[in-house]
Amino acid sequence: MELRELQKVQKEFDLEYFPEFWRINGYEDFLDRLEYLVVALAGEVGEFANIVKKMRREYMHLGVEERERLDQLREELIDIFIYTVITANLLDMDLEEWFRKKLSLNRERFDRYRDNG
Ligand SMILES: [Mg+2]
Repeated sequence: MELRELQKVQKEFDLEYFPEFWRINGYEDFLDRLEYLVVALAGEVGEFANIVKKMRREYMHLGVEERERLDQLREELIDIFIYTVITANLLDMDLEEWFRKKLSLNRERFDRYRDNG
């Protein structure tokens, strides 16, 4: 599945389960949705960070490698991705197109360091 298709599938899902969310009348409603999504996204990033914190703590104090937590990290990363996709849909943003643009900018940016180093 391509990124564009994936955005479409998520939008269809959201329209089916949360139709009110997508009834956006004016800028106030738009900001309302944007605020909800940034809080949700930050929450998921926090959940991801909390697992990393626990892995670090276990390793630092007990020398325990908690590789079984990697699936929890993957799950939180998907939550982050899903909220990213929903936010992109709200912003009417083609993620694939923006990804490619950014990748090309990053290539120019980091090529400078490679040439110098
Ligand atoms: Mg989560």
